[in-house]
Amino acid sequence: MKIMKFGGTSVGRPERMHQVKDLITRGEESKIVVLSALSGTTNSLVNIGEALAAADKVLAKAKIDELHTHYNEFYPKLVTTETARKKAQEIIKEHFEFLNILLKISFNEAINRDILAQGELLSTKLFYTLLEELKIPAVFLSALDFMSIDENAEPELQKISDRLKSILAQHPEDTIFITQGFICKNHLNEVDNLKRGGSDYTASLIAAAIQATACEIWTDIDGMHNNDPRIVDKTRPIAEMSFDEAAELAYFGAKILHPASIWPAQQFNVPVKLLNTMDPEANGTLIKAKVESIGVKAIAAKDGITAIKIKSSRMLLAYGFLRKVFEIFEKYKTPIDMITTSEVAVSVTIDDLSHLEHILEELGTFCSVEVDRDQTIICIVGNMVSESKGAIQSVIDSLIEYPVRMVSFGGSRHNVSVLVDSKFKKEALQSLNQDLFTW
Ligand code: ASP
Ligand code: MG
Repeated sequence: MKIMKFGGTSVGRPERMHQVKDLITRGEESKIVVLSALSGTTNSLVNIGEALAAADKVLAKAKIDELHTHYNEFYPKLVTTETARKKAQEIIKEHFEFLNILLKISFNEAINRDILAQGELLSTKLFYTLLEELKIPAVFLSALDFMSIDENAEPELQKISDRLKSILAQHPEDTIFITQGFICKNHLNEVDNLKRGGSDYTASLIAAAIQATACEIWTDIDGMHNNDPRIVDKTRPIAEMSFDEAAELAYFGAKILHPASIWPAQQFNVPVKLLNTMDPEANGTLIKAKVESIGVKAIAAKDGITAIKIKSSRMLLAYGFLRKVFEIFEKYKTPIDMITTSEVAVSVTIDDLSHLEHILEELGTFCSVEVDRDQTIICIVGNMVSESKGAIQSVIDSLIEYPVRMVSFGGSRHNVSVLVDSKFKKEALQSLNQDLFTW
């Protein structure tokens, strides 16, 4: 059994949903189909939640109506028979009645998460209606019956696996299952989610839970590219990469994949394929345990980074200094991305600034701190980059024109990271793109 996950743009128009129908009905293998919300829907739901949180009912109502109109225009192009249209109408009515009721009650965070769940519920139900109309046998699975996270918002993989396997066992003859990405239940049994872009994570968790043969992530581009196609002129898809390489790239800004979505598949060695709905025959990118190719494979960039230089003469020959520093970040639940050290100073980068003031205050009690905002981490990823001859040299040479604030090399075999002021990002990416790949 394999997993096929389709993102928002792949289900965002009625004709796209028809393409998805074609794709899931090819081949004999059974599949669990994971759908995102129609593109734009989750953003609208976020806006509705924000308007309600700000007690702006007029704005919330306007946003709900706008989204409602979108769905009312969507379904007649999706299905054609009287019965199917009635059914689609009922589904839309039910979910928008729910949203409208929220205008009359008091708002809280749990309700907000319920709001965010509407997108995936709508997309899967409407898609299922299409399958029914076309008499394509399929089973509708509610992700809320098996996907769950614990009190630290970590997915409960074993429980997910147990529940899902027992649900699937009730349908031994069926071969197509439809379910929602993104949504889950939390430890209080409330509706929750896996954070924005989390449908990829759902797909990978399900793949791990049932030890699927493959986890296919269908998007609107032909795989992971060797550089950001929105920024540099010439990019190309990467044919294959290892789980470790993909995880670094996803974390450091390759928008195509949710950063957490590698580990579940990796843990159970399920190959992940990034495929293009608009061009299903294209090779895309295959992510698996071991790859043969050596050398630089891709470059990704992550913006919104703040660098903190922590300096103390007491650091000289002292032990325990780093622990003291890191404890402060731990206390404020702030993850550190890059670290570089010298004998008297350490620089770290963070992207979550929610507790920056407190962190700086506490660091300031035993060292001097300097802060550089608006920085970009450029991450150069490849198999054995740190062991290939001259790899670091070519990165440095390529960046000769730009001030590099930090370099991190040797932390893993797959990665060289450099930190530059965001104003140099575009040119730095272009230059690396030209110099590190053979065109
Ligand atoms: N619909 C959710 C979002 O837009 C989840 C996803 O599409 O992956 O973030
Ligand atoms: Mg996505």
